[in-house]
Amino acid sequence: MQRITILGATGSIGVSTLDVLARHPDKYRVYALSAHERVDALAAQCRAFRPQRAVVGSPEAAARLRELLADLAIDVAHGEAALCEIASSPDTDTVMAAIVGAAGLAPTLAAARAGKKILLANKEALVMSGQLFMDAVKEHKATLLPIDSEHNAIFQSLPGNYTSHAGRSPDAAGVAKILLTASGGPFLQRAVETLEHVTPEEACKHPNWSMGRKISVDSATMMNKGLEVIEAHWLFGAPADRIDVVIHPQSVIHSMVSYVDGSVLAQLGNPDMRTPIAHALAYPERIASGVDQLDLTTLAALAFHKPDFDRFPCLALAFDALRAGGTAPALLNAANEVAVQAFLERRIGFRAIDRVVRRVMDENPHGAASSIEAVMAQDARARAAAGRIVHALSA
Ligand code: NDP
Ligand code: MG
Repeated sequence: MQRITILGATGSIGVSTLDVLARHPDKYRVYALSAHERVDALAAQCRAFRPQRAVVGSPEAAARLRELLADLAIDVAHGEAALCEIASSPDTDTVMAAIVGAAGLAPTLAAARAGKKILLANKEALVMSGQLFMDAVKEHKATLLPIDSEHNAIFQSLPGNYTSHAGRSPDAAGVAKILLTASGGPFLQRAVETLEHVTPEEACKHPNWSMGRKISVDSATMMNKGLEVIEAHWLFGAPADRIDVVIHPQSVIHSMVSYVDGSVLAQLGNPDMRTPIAHALAYPERIASGVDQLDLTTLAALAFHKPDFDRFPCLALAFDALRAGGTAPALLNAANEVAVQAFLERRIGFRAIDRVVRRVMDENPHGAASSIEAVMAQDARARAAAGRIVHALSA
C-alpha cells in the first residue's frame, strides 16, 4: 500500500489524482488531503477517501471543516506548517504537489527534505528555486516524478530513470534537443490587436485541456510554456538553447526528445492529466487511468510550427529569466502570479500581464538564489513591485 498526501486536492490536478486512486483501492491509501478555502469540496473528498488528516488555509476554514466532519476521526489543521507536516510525515510515502503558485513551495520542499516520492505538478515551486529544490531532492534521496504532461512525456522519452538529480546529462544520454510541445492556447489564431480586450472567461477556455484558472491564463499568454522551459531545465539538466518550444495545436504529442543519431522519441495520448498522474503514481509499472485509448485513425492531421514571440512576449520573458539565472525566475513567477490574479479580477487587461512582468523584471535587480530565504525575499519584492504597477494601471 502506497500512502498518499495530496496537496491541493480540490483543484483540477487534485481531483484527477483522486479519480485515479479510486480505481486502485488495493494499491493506494490517502493519508492526507489539503485545500485552501473550498471547504465543502474538501469535506466531500474526506468522506469518500477517509484520510487521517486534512489541512486548509485559515482557522475559519478549519473550524468549518471540523464541523462538517464531526462524525469522522480526521485530524483537521490549517496553515503552512500543517501543509509541511502532511508532506513530510513518516506516515506518508508519496506527495502529490498540486497547490497552485508559490504557496506550494514550502510544503513541496518539506517533502523533498523528508526524502519522499514527489509527484510534481506545482511547476512554480521548481521555477522559483530550481537549484535549491534539486539539491534538496538529491541530498535527501527523494524521488521526483513530473506530472506536467510535457515533462512526463519527456521523462518517458528519455532513457530509464533519467533525471538531472540522478546525475544524468543530455550529452551523456545522446540528447540533442528537448522538444517541448505547446497547444498555443485559446488565442493562437486571434488577431493580436484584439487581445487587449479578451475577458477572463475567454482566456480560461482552453481548446484541449480543462485546468485551474491560473494555469489557464498562463496557457493563453504562453507564460505556462515559459515556466515549463525553466521546469525542463531543472528536471533534465538541459540549457536554454537545448530546449525548443514547438506549437502543436492538437495536444496529441505531449513532447519529444530528439537524439544525436536523428531519432525522435515522443509520447502520445489523449489530453487528460490522469495519464501522467497514473504513470507517476505507478512508476516504473503501469496502471489503468480511466483515459480512453488513443484512436490514431480518428485523429485530424497533426500540425507543428514555431512559436511567435511577438504574439506571446511572456515566452520570451521566461527564456530571458532562465538565461539570467539566480532569482530572476522567482521575479518572473511572482510578477506573473500578481498580474494573472489582477487580470482574473478584471483590474487589468490581458496584454497588461506581460507588461507588468517585463517592468518588474526590468526595474528589479535579481540576485543569487543562495537560500530559500533569498528566493522568498525576491518573491516578496517582486509581488510588491507588481502590485504597485497593477495599481497604477487600474487607477
Ligand atoms: P487549481 O486552481 O484547480 O487548484 C489549486 C489547488 O491549490 C486547490 O486545491 C486550491 O485550494 C489550492 N490552493 C490555492 N491557493 C492556495 C494557497 N495559497 N495555499 C494552499 N493551497 C492553495 O489548480 P490546478 O490543479 O490547475 O493546478 C495546480 C498546479 O498544477 C499548478 O501549479 C499548475 O501549474 C500545475 N499543473 C496543472 C495542470 C492542469 O491540468 N490543471 C497541468 C500541469 C500542471 P481551493 O480549492 O480551496 O482553492
Ligand atoms: Mg504542461
